[in-house]
Amino acid sequence: MSRATSATIHLGALRSNLERLRQLASPAQVMAVVKADGYGHGLERVARVLDRADAFGVACIADGQRLRATGIRQRIVVLSGIDEAADIAEMHRLGLESVVHHASQIEWLAADADPRPLKVWLKIDTGMHRLGFAPADAAQAYRRLHALQNVDADIGLMTHFANSDVAEDEQTQIQMQRFEDIAAKLPGARSLANSAGVLEWPQSRAQWVRPGGLLYGISVIAGSHAAQFGFRPAMTLVSKLVAINRVGKGEAVGYAGDWICPEDMDIGVVQIGYGDGYPRSAPSGTPVLLNGRRAQIVGRVSMDLISIDLRGQADARVGDPVLLWGEGLPVEEIAAHAGTIGYELVCGMTRRVRFLEDEG
Ligand SMILES: *Cc1c(COP(=O)(O)O)cnc(C)c1O
Repeated sequence: MSRATSATIHLGALRSNLERLRQLASPAQVMAVVKADGYGHGLERVARVLDRADAFGVACIADGQRLRATGIRQRIVVLSGIDEAADIAEMHRLGLESVVHHASQIEWLAADADPRPLKVWLKIDTGMHRLGFAPADAAQAYRRLHALQNVDADIGLMTHFANSDVAEDEQTQIQMQRFEDIAAKLPGARSLANSAGVLEWPQSRAQWVRPGGLLYGISVIAGSHAAQFGFRPAMTLVSKLVAINRVGKGEAVGYAGDWICPEDMDIGVVQIGYGDGYPRSAPSGTPVLLNGRRAQIVGRVSMDLISIDLRGQADARVGDPVLLWGEGLPVEEIAAHAGTIGYELVCGMTRRVRFLEDEG
């Protein structure tokens, strides 16, 4: 038999999260961000379900190719743009739009012989210092792009926030002001807000919002869960109890033996581990749901298995389902225990996890 571990993707939750975003951001259009295989939920599956998205944001041309191959007709924006001159032909073939964040990309466009106009978004670095033209160079980059016959005259303007998950953070206000200073003098649709921007910074919604995490029902705002804002988790990770063992007081559980039984007690063994993508950094005390009731991990997460404390769970039986995250146990909470964010956990499911879907 194959392993019991499965990740169920809730198509209804994806749809309802998109509608919730539409409501919040209206009248802005929604560019649904589906990079990293739809944040681990399955790129094609997510894009097909989100047929009401106005556009999709992807990390690379290969993602755009997959979306076109599955019949997606909406606008698709490649968030890091072309990586080499030869990419321009591929962008045309697939009908993709390119972010332009670097002078080398303008050189490739200027040297390209194909006269058809490519749709582009100018990325301005207002303080994240990852991709984008410095504010001082943005207007000139815009003029150079605008002068090219093979660039569509309708150039979008884009920036990305570094700290929008921190309410009232000064950095975000500075970034919005820097963007406004440049964009005020240029035509073109504007796009600033990621998920946290949509929630925390209404002024940043502009013409296009670019949410990722909230579509999947995950918040990165510290101490919050997306459910508090009306979003539903789109992934439920489940496995089952494969053993129940009586372990004596003073005995150690798991590798390195750093969790010691405080009394004679039942320890449950669950078929999931870091080989499935469950974080090895999740310490003792991290919750799981056994038959809908909370239990805690004890000892280290190993490759295939975890151990849980069964005190107070006298009715537990081998074969019982154990929910690792999803409805009733937010992935944000597990991430906080493991010292990371929910995004990293849902992106990290390995190939041996079985993916299922339901309409829920
Ligand atoms: C990932 C990403 C987003 C989406 O961010 P979320 O926090 O998931 O909403 C938006 N824009 C860009 C440029 C990104 O790289």
